[in-house]
Amino acid sequence: MRLCTFDRGDGAPRPGLVRGEGERARVLDLASALALDPLPRCLRGLLEAFAPDALAREAAALAWDAAIPLADSRLLAPVPRPPKITAVGLNYRDHAAEQGKPPPERPMLFAKARTSVSGPLDAIRFARAQEKVDFEVELCLVVGKPGFRVPRERAREHLLGYTVAIDVSDRAAQQADKQFYRAKSYPSFCPVGPFVVTPDELDARALALETRLNGAVMQSGSTADLVFGVEELVEYVSAVAPLEVGDLLLTGTPAGVGVFRDPPVFLRPGDRLRCAIAGIGALDLAIEAD
Ligand code: ZN
Repeated sequence: MRLCTFDRGDGAPRPGLVRGEGERARVLDLASALALDPLPRCLRGLLEAFAPDALAREAAALAWDAAIPLADSRLLAPVPRPPKITAVGLNYRDHAAEQGKPPPERPMLFAKARTSVSGPLDAIRFARAQEKVDFEVELCLVVGKPGFRVPRERAREHLLGYTVAIDVSDRAAQQADKQFYRAKSYPSFCPVGPFVVTPDELDARALALETRLNGAVMQSGSTADLVFGVEELVEYVSAVAPLEVGDLLLTGTPAGVGVFRDPPVFLRPGDRLRCAIAGIGALDLAIEAD
């Protein structure tokens, strides 16, 4: 399944199921189609009513006549306020190498504020004084089922699916603080979307990731280069903080980020940033200053 959260320009967000490609893509309002009460306002609300496997069964049986063209909808972040966001640093071999560091012996975890999430139509915004704002394209896991100490063999059962996230980072704050929370937590510093693709439809082991800034390729990697893979990360993270429905797990970024380029490249107001993962989709965002 390809899932999303959307509205019809009426300010009433709802979870959706997407079928078809390009101009023929259509979205079905799952809140109405499943006759849920209370109406879920995003994918997280939907998952409070159905575990991922039950949702797949229900969705497969739905009539499709009430679906609307995807072009008539506005895509929002799949989970606009996740319970928590856990991210992983240095998790691609080429990204560790560009910093002159060996791959870590265990996943290096950090948190981003849940209020940093923004959607596929939102600009990345920051103050003009923030001159070192950088991009990191990341495969993002969306938790679909609670769990604590989940063994890697059972990791997939706890995932709703995969989406694209950008781990936007103020490198000046990151370097000054020697830790990441401030640098990575401003509003709009975690764009997420456009779709969540379920694990039965997408093998995440060798997905191409790409970042383009104003059309120029900045990052071009593959999840085959991950130091710690999806199942290992779910096991490791869930051994620390219990997984909650709607949690996001950002799995790290490949080489090519702005701060390690020569000369360095940072986001500027007026830029256009496009981060894509094969099989999921792209976030194509404006950059604006407050
Ligand atoms: Zn990152």
